[in-house]
Amino acid sequence: MAFLGNGYCSSGSEGEDEDEGMEGYRKGGYHAARPGDRFAGGRFVAQRKLGWGNFSTVWLAYDTLLNRFVALKIQKSARDYAQAALHEIELLSAIAKGDPTNSKNAVQLLDHFKHAGPNGHHVCLVTEFLGDSLLRLIRYNRNKGIGLSRVKEICRSVLVGLDYLHRELGIIHTDLKPENVLLVSTINPSKDPVRSGFTPILERTVSNQYSGSVISFSEKMLKMRARRAVAKISLRRESLGGVAAEMEKERSLDGISLKCKIVDFGNACWGSQQLAGEIQTRQYRAPEVIIGAGYSYSADMWSFACMAFELATGEVLFAPKTCQGCSEDEDHLALMMETLGKMPKKIASSGTRSKDYFDRHGDLKRIRRLKFWPLERLLVQRYNFTEPDAQGLADFLRPILDFTPENRPTAAACLKNPWLN
Ligand code: ADP
Ligand code: MG
Repeated sequence: MAFLGNGYCSSGSEGEDEDEGMEGYRKGGYHAARPGDRFAGGRFVAQRKLGWGNFSTVWLAYDTLLNRFVALKIQKSARDYAQAALHEIELLSAIAKGDPTNSKNAVQLLDHFKHAGPNGHHVCLVTEFLGDSLLRLIRYNRNKGIGLSRVKEICRSVLVGLDYLHRELGIIHTDLKPENVLLVSTINPSKDPVRSGFTPILERTVSNQYSGSVISFSEKMLKMRARRAVAKISLRRESLGGVAAEMEKERSLDGISLKCKIVDFGNACWGSQQLAGEIQTRQYRAPEVIIGAGYSYSADMWSFACMAFELATGEVLFAPKTCQGCSEDEDHLALMMETLGKMPKKIASSGTRSKDYFDRHGDLKRIRRLKFWPLERLLVQRYNFTEPDAQGLADFLRPILDFTPENRPTAAACLKNPWLN
């Protein structure tokens, strides 16, 4: 991540763990809010936690001045996080200013302020309340892939947002991934405070005390571990098939509105002022970032393509691991080449880290034998797509996954692709 110094990037958010854990609740870290807590001189009242990231927890809050529900992002308090939040406010202000009708699919900033708590001073951002993330949508659908017509609809929404950011504002998001794209509506109508007729909580009562302060740290850790163990077992069951037939029951996505918006501009930057260093969450990271060759708007397009693949199949496109004698970066480059063909020598040698991974012929130094498995074949053989479906999706994605960043189509160009229309 650009803001927190070299080597840090925002992996390991809600993508891997189901909650933020207790470790982050300390000086410089998260603020422990409770339903009924008041913010900004009493105007906003916390209702329930909506989500979290490495930088913040996000709460559903009630705006008592304008009588509406909003999302309240409470940033960790340490200086670097506060700085990142101020930077996010700068970008979100530009985003709101350029889109007065709120139709460009980027989250709208409504207000911001500082909140003093036991763990420090927290920058808080108030934004419009949105629904579930695309990650939750993928999981809701039990990681089966959501069907190509839905993928196309979501792609159109995201591309409208990216085109606005890139072409009109000159902003690179740098952390596009399913957690950072939210449906405008919740999957489950009962989770929507307006649709479900939820009466706002206006005071803190004993029954809505935040559990973190009621049970001890170790109790909470034990509970978390137990939950993770159960989650792991159920994943294994799913892969065994049959055993968990009950769990595998299809859930219908009919009737869920797929309009979505891009959120989380904590790592975003102006195209003209890119910061050096690593950007993007591992699985969505572009090859030029890995080899240290600089990046531009086209790095977001790479992440976009990875995300579209994941929506279509329910699985991440590239899931690199450290292997014997090779780093995660090298495994990642190998996976890319197995799916997309060999990286052109000119590109392979263009980064500050090229020599760490490639020999002078443009071959990976430590991973010698690649198993070529092109996108289209992967879709048919591994994900049971029909040939025409696989071809359509692969033809859409392949140009966006070009190793040469300048060759990738822009968001505006993608929006004109007949496959989407
Ligand atoms: P971080 O910078 O800490 O990653 P995000 O802005 O990504 O924070 O927010 C963390 C999570 O909170 C998101 O993944 C999402 O689940 C939830 N969230 C964020 N903004 C909203 C919103 N406007 N409405 C509803 N949920 C939100
Ligand atoms: Mg996030």
